[in-house]
Amino acid sequence: LIQVVGVKEHEKFRGVYWVSFEDGTERLATINLTPGKRVYGEQLIQWEGKEYRIWNPYRSKLAAAIMNGLKVMPIIEGSRILYLGAASGTTVSHVSDIVGNNGVIYSVEFSPRVFREFVEKLVDQGRKNVIPILADARYPEQYVHIVKTVDIAYIDIAQPFQAKILADNADVYVKSHGYVMLVIKAMSIDVTKEPSETFKREIDVLKDRGYEILDMVHLEPYDTAHAMVIGRKTS
Ligand code: SAM
Repeated sequence: LIQVVGVKEHEKFRGVYWVSFEDGTERLATINLTPGKRVYGEQLIQWEGKEYRIWNPYRSKLAAAIMNGLKVMPIIEGSRILYLGAASGTTVSHVSDIVGNNGVIYSVEFSPRVFREFVEKLVDQGRKNVIPILADARYPEQYVHIVKTVDIAYIDIAQPFQAKILADNADVYVKSHGYVMLVIKAMSIDVTKEPSETFKREIDVLKDRGYEILDMVHLEPYDTAHAMVIGRKTS
Protein backbone atom coordinates (compact mmCIF):
# COMPACT_ATOMS: atom_id res chain seq x y z
CA LEU A 1 0.00 0.00 0.00
CA ILE A 2 1.29 3.48 -0.85
CA GLN A 3 1.98 5.51 2.32
CA VAL A 4 0.20 8.78 3.11
CA VAL A 5 2.61 11.68 3.66
CA GLY A 6 0.18 14.50 4.43
CA VAL A 7 -3.37 15.84 4.54
CA LYS A 8 -4.35 19.46 3.92
CA GLU A 9 -7.65 21.25 3.52
CA HIS A 10 -8.71 22.19 -0.02
CA GLU A 11 -7.55 25.70 -0.97
CA LYS A 12 -11.13 26.93 -1.49
CA PHE A 13 -13.62 24.50 0.03
CA ARG A 14 -13.91 23.89 3.79
CA GLY A 15 -14.49 20.27 4.71
CA VAL A 16 -12.81 18.98 1.54
CA TYR A 17 -9.22 17.69 1.84
CA TRP A 18 -6.23 16.67 -0.26
CA VAL A 19 -4.47 13.52 0.85
CA SER A 20 -0.85 13.32 -0.42
CA PHE A 21 0.78 9.97 -1.04
CA GLU A 22 4.51 9.13 -1.08
CA ASP A 23 4.43 8.60 -4.88
CA GLY A 24 3.55 12.30 -5.28
CA THR A 25 -0.15 11.82 -6.08
CA GLU A 26 -2.91 13.74 -4.32
CA ARG A 27 -6.48 12.56 -3.88
CA LEU A 28 -9.64 14.25 -2.61
CA ALA A 29 -11.10 13.15 0.71
CA THR A 30 -13.63 14.07 3.40
CA ILE A 31 -13.55 13.37 7.15
CA ASN A 32 -15.50 10.19 7.89
CA LEU A 33 -18.60 11.06 9.93
CA THR A 34 -18.95 7.34 10.80
CA PRO A 35 -15.37 6.19 11.51
CA GLY A 36 -14.54 2.63 10.55
CA LYS A 37 -17.40 2.44 8.06
CA ARG A 38 -17.16 2.50 4.27
CA VAL A 39 -20.01 3.27 1.86
CA TYR A 40 -18.72 2.12 -1.55
CA GLY A 41 -15.43 0.35 -0.91
CA GLU A 42 -13.47 3.61 -0.63
CA GLN A 43 -10.06 3.74 1.04
CA LEU A 44 -9.96 4.91 4.66
CA ILE A 45 -6.96 6.98 5.79
CA GLN A 46 -5.87 7.66 9.36
CA TRP A 47 -4.01 10.94 9.83
CA GLU A 48 -3.31 12.87 13.01
CA GLY A 49 -6.21 11.35 14.93
CA LYS A 50 -8.81 11.75 12.17
CA GLU A 51 -10.19 9.28 9.66
CA TYR A 52 -10.57 10.41 6.03
CA ARG A 53 -12.50 8.73 3.20
CA ILE A 54 -10.89 8.99 -0.24
CA TRP A 55 -13.41 10.64 -2.62
CA ASN A 56 -13.27 8.98 -6.05
CA PRO A 57 -13.96 11.36 -8.99
CA TYR A 58 -14.75 8.37 -11.23
CA ARG A 59 -17.58 7.43 -8.87
CA SER A 60 -18.84 10.87 -7.80
CA LYS A 61 -19.58 13.71 -10.20
CA LEU A 62 -19.17 16.32 -7.48
CA ALA A 63 -15.62 15.08 -6.88
CA ALA A 64 -15.03 15.16 -10.65
CA ALA A 65 -16.22 18.77 -10.77
CA ILE A 66 -13.88 19.75 -7.90
CA MET A 67 -10.96 17.97 -9.61
CA ASN A 68 -11.76 19.96 -12.77
CA GLY A 69 -11.50 23.30 -11.00
CA LEU A 70 -15.03 24.12 -9.85
CA LYS A 71 -14.87 27.66 -8.44
CA VAL A 72 -18.17 27.80 -6.54
CA MET A 73 -19.09 24.90 -4.23
CA PRO A 74 -21.80 26.08 -1.86
CA ILE A 75 -21.94 22.94 0.34
CA ILE A 76 -20.38 23.72 3.75
CA GLU A 77 -20.60 22.63 7.37
CA GLY A 78 -24.22 22.93 8.49
CA SER A 79 -25.75 23.19 4.98
CA ARG A 80 -29.32 21.99 4.47
CA ILE A 81 -29.61 20.22 1.12
CA LEU A 82 -32.30 18.69 -1.05
CA TYR A 83 -30.51 15.99 -3.08
CA LEU A 84 -32.47 14.54 -6.01
CA GLY A 85 -31.24 11.21 -7.41
CA ALA A 86 -29.52 9.87 -4.29
CA ALA A 87 -28.87 6.41 -5.84
CA SER A 88 -26.93 4.17 -3.46
CA GLY A 89 -25.40 7.17 -1.72
CA THR A 90 -21.86 7.52 -3.08
CA THR A 91 -21.95 11.32 -3.43
CA VAL A 92 -24.46 11.84 -0.61
CA SER A 93 -22.05 10.10 1.77
CA HIS A 94 -19.32 12.68 1.09
CA VAL A 95 -21.82 15.53 1.26
CA SER A 96 -22.89 14.05 4.61
CA ASP A 97 -19.25 14.18 5.80
CA ILE A 98 -18.96 17.85 4.73
CA VAL A 99 -22.20 19.17 6.24
CA GLY A 100 -21.67 17.23 9.49
CA ASN A 101 -24.24 16.73 12.21
CA ASN A 102 -25.52 20.32 12.04
CA GLY A 103 -26.52 19.85 8.42
CA VAL A 104 -29.19 17.77 6.74
CA ILE A 105 -29.53 16.06 3.36
CA TYR A 106 -33.05 15.24 2.25
CA SER A 107 -32.19 12.44 -0.18
CA VAL A 108 -34.79 11.63 -2.84
CA GLU A 109 -34.59 8.39 -4.85
CA PHE A 110 -37.41 6.72 -6.78
CA SER A 111 -36.09 3.20 -7.39
CA PRO A 112 -37.17 1.04 -4.41
CA ARG A 113 -34.26 -1.37 -4.87
CA VAL A 114 -31.64 1.38 -4.96
CA PHE A 115 -33.39 3.21 -2.11
CA ARG A 116 -33.10 0.11 0.11
CA GLU A 117 -29.37 -0.03 -0.60
CA PHE A 118 -29.09 3.69 0.25
CA VAL A 119 -30.82 3.18 3.61
CA GLU A 120 -28.62 0.18 4.47
CA LYS A 121 -25.36 1.91 3.56
CA LEU A 122 -25.99 5.36 5.03
CA VAL A 123 -28.86 5.53 7.50
CA ASP A 124 -28.40 2.07 9.09
CA GLN A 125 -24.65 2.79 9.37
CA GLY A 126 -25.33 5.80 11.57
CA ARG A 127 -25.44 8.84 9.27
CA LYS A 128 -27.98 10.88 11.21
CA ASN A 129 -27.89 13.89 8.89
CA VAL A 130 -29.37 11.93 5.98
CA ILE A 131 -33.14 11.73 5.57
CA PRO A 132 -34.08 9.16 2.90
CA ILE A 133 -37.20 9.85 0.85
CA LEU A 134 -38.62 7.29 -1.59
CA ALA A 135 -40.31 9.58 -4.11
CA ASP A 136 -40.28 10.88 -7.67
CA ALA A 137 -38.38 14.18 -8.03
CA ARG A 138 -40.77 15.22 -10.83
CA TYR A 139 -43.45 15.72 -8.20
CA PRO A 140 -41.99 17.92 -5.44
CA GLU A 141 -45.33 18.06 -3.64
CA GLN A 142 -44.87 14.36 -2.76
CA TYR A 143 -42.43 15.26 0.03
CA VAL A 144 -43.77 18.59 1.21
CA HIS A 145 -44.60 17.08 4.61
CA ILE A 146 -40.95 16.01 5.12
CA VAL A 147 -38.67 18.58 3.49
CA LYS A 148 -38.12 21.98 5.13
CA THR A 149 -36.52 25.03 3.49
CA VAL A 150 -32.99 24.26 2.28
CA ASP A 151 -29.88 26.22 1.30
CA ILE A 152 -29.14 24.14 -1.79
CA ALA A 153 -30.96 21.84 -4.22
CA TYR A 154 -28.77 19.30 -6.10
CA ILE A 155 -29.95 17.13 -8.98
CA ASP A 156 -28.36 14.11 -10.65
CA ILE A 157 -31.19 11.95 -11.97
CA ALA A 158 -29.88 11.28 -15.51
CA GLN A 159 -33.32 12.00 -17.01
CA PRO A 160 -34.70 14.50 -19.53
CA PHE A 161 -35.79 17.94 -18.30
CA GLN A 162 -33.41 17.92 -15.34
CA ALA A 163 -33.15 21.72 -15.22
CA LYS A 164 -36.93 22.05 -15.18
CA ILE A 165 -37.27 19.43 -12.43
CA LEU A 166 -34.53 21.15 -10.45
CA ALA A 167 -36.25 24.55 -10.76
CA ASP A 168 -39.63 23.03 -9.84
CA ASN A 169 -38.06 21.74 -6.63
CA ALA A 170 -35.92 24.78 -5.89
CA ASP A 171 -38.89 27.14 -6.33
CA VAL A 172 -40.61 25.30 -3.47
CA TYR A 173 -37.75 24.37 -1.15
CA VAL A 174 -34.68 26.58 -1.69
CA LYS A 175 -34.40 29.73 0.42
CA SER A 176 -34.17 33.17 -1.12
CA HIS A 177 -30.73 33.62 -2.79
CA GLY A 178 -30.01 29.92 -2.19
CA TYR A 179 -28.11 27.69 -4.61
CA VAL A 180 -28.85 25.02 -7.21
CA MET A 181 -26.42 22.37 -8.44
CA LEU A 182 -27.22 20.60 -11.70
CA VAL A 183 -25.46 17.58 -13.18
CA ILE A 184 -26.24 17.51 -16.88
CA LYS A 185 -25.84 14.22 -18.69
CA ALA A 186 -26.04 15.13 -22.33
CA MET A 187 -26.68 11.64 -23.65
CA SER A 188 -29.66 10.94 -21.44
CA ILE A 189 -31.27 14.26 -22.27
CA ASP A 190 -31.20 14.10 -26.05
CA VAL A 191 -28.99 11.70 -27.98
CA THR A 192 -29.49 13.60 -31.22
CA LYS A 193 -27.93 16.84 -29.91
CA GLU A 194 -24.28 17.74 -29.38
CA PRO A 195 -23.41 17.95 -25.67
CA SER A 196 -22.72 21.70 -25.80
CA GLU A 197 -26.16 22.32 -27.30
CA THR A 198 -27.82 20.27 -24.57
CA PHE A 199 -25.80 22.05 -21.88
CA LYS A 200 -26.83 25.45 -23.25
CA ARG A 201 -30.49 24.49 -23.42
CA GLU A 202 -30.52 23.23 -19.82
CA ILE A 203 -28.70 26.36 -18.62
CA ASP A 204 -31.21 28.54 -20.46
CA VAL A 205 -34.03 26.79 -18.61
CA LEU A 206 -32.44 27.75 -15.30
CA LYS A 207 -31.91 31.36 -16.44
CA ASP A 208 -35.52 31.64 -17.63
CA ARG A 209 -36.66 30.41 -14.24
CA GLY A 210 -34.77 33.18 -12.42
CA TYR A 211 -31.45 31.53 -11.63
CA GLU A 212 -28.11 33.22 -12.14
CA ILE A 213 -25.38 30.88 -13.47
CA LEU A 214 -22.24 31.12 -11.33
CA ASP A 215 -20.10 28.31 -12.66
CA MET A 216 -19.99 25.37 -15.04
CA VAL A 217 -17.37 22.66 -15.51
CA HIS A 218 -17.15 19.66 -17.80
CA LEU A 219 -16.47 16.34 -16.10
CA GLU A 220 -14.08 14.70 -18.58
CA PRO A 221 -12.05 12.55 -18.17
CA TYR A 222 -13.99 11.22 -15.19
CA ASP A 223 -17.36 11.20 -16.99
CA THR A 224 -17.96 11.81 -20.68
CA ALA A 225 -20.64 14.23 -21.90
CA HIS A 226 -21.39 15.44 -18.39
CA ALA A 227 -21.21 18.90 -16.87
CA MET A 228 -21.85 20.41 -13.44
CA VAL A 229 -23.62 23.75 -13.26
CA ILE A 230 -23.90 25.96 -10.16
CA GLY A 231 -26.64 28.56 -10.03
CA ARG A 232 -28.21 30.91 -7.52
CA LYS A 233 -31.70 32.30 -7.01
CA THR A 234 -31.78 35.95 -8.00
CA SER A 235 -34.53 36.77 -5.50
N1 SAM B 1 -26.06 11.22 -7.55
C1 SAM B 1 -25.63 9.84 -7.42
C2 SAM B 1 -24.20 9.82 -6.93
O1 SAM B 1 -23.40 10.63 -7.42
O2 SAM B 1 -23.86 9.02 -6.04
C3 SAM B 1 -25.82 9.10 -8.72
C4 SAM B 1 -27.22 9.27 -9.29
S1 SAM B 1 -27.64 8.22 -10.65
C5 SAM B 1 -26.78 8.92 -12.00
C6 SAM B 1 -29.29 8.69 -10.96
C7 SAM B 1 -30.30 8.18 -9.93
O3 SAM B 1 -31.49 8.98 -10.07
C8 SAM B 1 -30.71 6.74 -10.09
O4 SAM B 1 -30.53 6.05 -8.88
C9 SAM B 1 -32.20 6.80 -10.47
O5 SAM B 1 -32.97 5.74 -9.94
C10 SAM B 1 -32.61 8.13 -9.86
N2 SAM B 1 -33.75 8.79 -10.51
C11 SAM B 1 -34.01 8.90 -11.84
N3 SAM B 1 -35.14 9.59 -12.06
C12 SAM B 1 -35.61 9.95 -10.84
C13 SAM B 1 -36.74 10.68 -10.40
N4 SAM B 1 -37.61 11.18 -11.28
N5 SAM B 1 -36.91 10.85 -9.07
C14 SAM B 1 -36.03 10.35 -8.19
N6 SAM B 1 -34.95 9.63 -8.53
C15 SAM B 1 -34.73 9.44 -9.85
